[in-house]
Parts: sequence; structure tokens; C-alpha cells
Amino acid sequence: MPDQRVTQQIRQLVGDRAKGCCEYCLSQTQFSPQSFSVEHIHPRSLGGKTELDNLALACAGCNGHKYNKTQALDPTTNTMADLYHPRKHNWAEHFAWNEEYTIILGLTPVGRATVAALQLNRSALQNLRAILFSVGKHPPE
Ligand SMILES: [Zn+2]
Repeated sequence: MPDQRVTQQIRQLVGDRAKGCCEYCLSQTQFSPQSFSVEHIHPRSLGGKTELDNLALACAGCNGHKYNKTQALDPTTNTMADLYHPRKHNWAEHFAWNEEYTIILGLTPVGRATVAALQLNRSALQNLRAILFSVGKHPPE
């Protein structure tokens, strides 16, 4: 049976690949009071493996809201859609910022379902984005 632990080495690789940002809401580890973790995109409870293609860096808020979901309701079409998959999807194809860079807009069913399910526009995140934007530190590069 393969080793399913997230080792320090894996943690480092995933964090570097994500450039220190939550791969869902793009919160930056250097400016976020939240803890971040390496999450299983396809949940372990549903057979997701501990391998780099199934791992993403996520802030505590996104990780907690995602929990073991792989799909959620797209509020626009009222149908179920896959959640954003950081290894298979491109963030900019599914999401965009509003003009003030405080709110993440879902552009596709995947984007909208993920914004809703993971609550990517939590009020504290919007406040932090506004402050960071004002000093040129948001959005992340
Ligand atoms: Zn996040």
C-alpha cells in the first residue's frame, strides 16, 4: 500500500507550486492570518490519493467549506457542477475579479459552483483584498 501521509517534502513542493497562495481564493500565506494546509482535491474519504496531481494548497476557510465535496450547485443554472480542480482547470478560465479586486466572479458552472460552495467571497477576505490592493499586494502575481 502506498504511503498516504503528506510529508514535509510534499508540503514544500505543493506550497512552492502554488506560489504560497490558496489555489481556490488566492489568499496569500504571507498576508493571511489563516492556517493553510495541503488538501486532497478528490477527497481521501472518496478514494483520493496522496499524490501531487491530487493535492492543492488551500486556506483553512476554503478547505473547511470544501470538506469532501467534489460537486456543488451552480446558482445560475440550478444544476450540479464539478468543483474547480486546481490541477485540471485554469483559474482564469473559471474565475475573474470584480473591478475592485475584492470579489471573485464565477465565469462558468465550475466557477460559480465553487464560489458558492467554498464561499470564496467571505467578508474578511473581501476586506483583506481591499487593504492589500490599496498597497499593491493584491491580486497575487
Ligand atoms: Zn482559500
